[in-house]
Amino acid sequence: MALEQHKTSIFQDVDQVVADSHASQTVTIIAVTKYVDVDTTSQLIELGVNHLGENRVDQFLKKYQALANKPVTWHFIGSLQRRKVKDIINLVDYFHALDSIKLAQEINKRADHVINCFLQVNLSEEASKHGFLRDEIEQALVAIADMPKINLVGLMTMAPLAASQTELEDLFAATHQLKEMIKAKKIKNMPMTELSMGMSGDYPLAIKHGATFVRIGKLFFQ
Ligand SMILES: *Cc1c(COP(=O)(O)O)cnc(C)c1O
Repeated sequence: MALEQHKTSIFQDVDQVVADSHASQTVTIIAVTKYVDVDTTSQLIELGVNHLGENRVDQFLKKYQALANKPVTWHFIGSLQRRKVKDIINLVDYFHALDSIKLAQEINKRADHVINCFLQVNLSEEASKHGFLRDEIEQALVAIADMPKINLVGLMTMAPLAASQTELEDLFAATHQLKEMIKAKKIKNMPMTELSMGMSGDYPLAIKHGATFVRIGKLFFQ
């Protein structure tokens, strides 16, 4: 029951934020199910949530296998070790954490079809976070342009936990701007139409700055 209420209020609030901020993009809610088991995840699907995100390979595989016959779009949102790429990359619909050229090479090698990926960027330059720093991005784009199994649908970012409202605004705005700059290059495997940013604590601001996918965990399961 609580789950249904949380689901309803999250979906209503996202609609409200889109309306209030006059956002022109469509926003897709990814329910991050890393906190819960297969049963609870299954209940969410019954409630009509069909974009699911996991950040660990073992948990992803467990849920993917248990829920294989359900109408789910699968997002892998966590950092992925190169040696585990082969275990999941052909199963995910979107991979959100492309954070090194070596990882891109491994994906390009192991993929049996074109994989939708987000380039994870770290414009806040916080040392503990994964993602390309601003001055690494150009080189990454040059390398990935030659990888036919990778389709860069957009950018993904994670805000530092301690960020103030102003820092969040700056980070989300800068990420949006960077996405538009890359899109304008019209590189063939980089449509760059999507922005994966915003979590339970900061999704309204992310939507205001153009997020098309928000990754929400805690709010569903509190
Ligand atoms: C856990 C996680 C989320 C969701 O965070 P909440 O604060 O629980 O909403 C989003 N993105 C990534 C990469 C995560 O690991």
